[in-house]
Amino acid sequence: MLEVGHYYGNKDVAGASGRLQDVFDPATGQATKRLALASAQEVDAVVAVAKAAWRDWSKTPALRRARILDRFKSILWERADQLAEAISSEHGKTHEDAVGEVTRGIEVVEFAVGAPSFLKGEFSENVGTDIDSISIRQSLGVVAGITPFNFPAMVPMWMFPVAIACGNTFILKPSERDPSASLLLARWLAEAGLPEGVFNVVQGDKAAVDALIAHPDVKAISFVGSTPIARQIHQAAAAHGKRVQALGGAKNHMVIMPDADLDQAASALMGAAYGSAGERCMAVSVAVPVTDKVADALVERLVPQIQALKIGPAADRASEMGPLVTAQHLERVRGFIDSAEKEGADIVVDGRTFQQKMQGYEKGFYLGGTLLDRVTPEMTAYQNEIFGPVLSVLRRNSYDDAVRLIDECPFANGTAIFTRDGDVARSFVSDIEVGMVGVNVPIPVPMAFHSFGGWKDSIFGDHAVYGMEGVRFYTRIKTTTSRWPTGLRADPEFTMPTLG
Ligand code: NAD
Repeated sequence: MLEVGHYYGNKDVAGASGRLQDVFDPATGQATKRLALASAQEVDAVVAVAKAAWRDWSKTPALRRARILDRFKSILWERADQLAEAISSEHGKTHEDAVGEVTRGIEVVEFAVGAPSFLKGEFSENVGTDIDSISIRQSLGVVAGITPFNFPAMVPMWMFPVAIACGNTFILKPSERDPSASLLLARWLAEAGLPEGVFNVVQGDKAAVDALIAHPDVKAISFVGSTPIARQIHQAAAAHGKRVQALGGAKNHMVIMPDADLDQAASALMGAAYGSAGERCMAVSVAVPVTDKVADALVERLVPQIQALKIGPAADRASEMGPLVTAQHLERVRGFIDSAEKEGADIVVDGRTFQQKMQGYEKGFYLGGTLLDRVTPEMTAYQNEIFGPVLSVLRRNSYDDAVRLIDECPFANGTAIFTRDGDVARSFVSDIEVGMVGVNVPIPVPMAFHSFGGWKDSIFGDHAVYGMEGVRFYTRIKTTTSRWPTGLRADPEFTMPTLG
């Protein structure tokens, strides 16, 4: 079976730890590859390569760094299909969805190509008599990214284009479940002219992550994954004195007001809840219709659409929704549906009964779209991030009740409101305690020149990712104050220097 290894020094490097883990094709349920899991010694080797590359790379003019990223961007456009196929073969998402992921990643590369502009410093003449001040942004050194399974190309691209455009060298530790996209990205960066050691991939699990966090030469950690691990990574990295941004899980609510166009709202919910089998941190997993009347009308519209979902492998281009990523995850999601049933929710559409009929795909990790109605905040299915094709309906009687529900939820990644009332929409945007808000937009993922990040238990650390937040995270400010001999005093000054 094909063995997937690491990539550093612009070369594929086979694993040496002897620890291997199966990688599955979720569409067929078959193990297709073996992934090498790095030891701490292998992490040390990658860090040494990245450290050796940093000085020269940080001193390479930003324009030259940007031109390499520009060539990388062209390669990505040309080979988006190939990258999408690699993603689908290990993640299970449909081809079109994977192409969408690649496109959103490319947008960050497009942003990073603007490095010469966004790295411009600040200069003040005569901050005191004959004294000038300059502030510049310099890179940190070796930085690492630890990424989740659900966007094996896009989430790494939230991080490394900005990090390397700013002059850092980067080590990516991708998810064990879909590691191949990272290697394509690494090879294509080298092809675009990226010097050795600037972008590196180390495959692995907790052992590799712990080694990266403890390594004194790794200056910053970007993490995206589930909330318990994000919290843990934030604490561990901070304890090691590192800069850290750790984005966690989500439970995204969509409020449907009585004046909303319910056909539009239902179709927005279909894409936002069931696209990518609900394995998106910005998926809408909770519908909050305001009033029972709206809830009934919405459920009536959703049911036939959920029942008509075309579920299948990415190889069938007509599929609208693929399988879940692993057998374990499928069991976990089924468990949440079981718990909702036991705790009194209405299982309006039950995905557990979905039978895979296509030949060759009987063992795939498929689950049908599921709709739970009359869910309450105490239920297990509401308390946890399900991360599957399961939409819960929490009925509320007023706008204030809907807002209270969202504000009491510890997750605060994204939210949306569907309404035609500008006053209500404006209040929602202003008041809600959530990081990314949509008004008649179900999945409000910010573009690359804004920044992505939730609030509360959906992020730990001070900076969101990409856009100017990414630039701030991956650089540190140096301010120089200078005076030339004509302005220098001859006698010593013992008081706190004040300018002027
Ligand atoms: P995960 O937390 O299991 O894994 C994320 C990464 O952490 C992987 O690289 C994994 O190898 C590593 N990891 C796992 N356990 C670890 C441990 N004990 N110690 C150190 N490292 C560990 O997440 P996942 O299942 O791969 O991804 C899905 C999760 O990611 C969901 O919760 C989803 O909401 C979240 N997510 C959040 C965002 C966001 O922007 N907030 C974006 C995408 C995904």
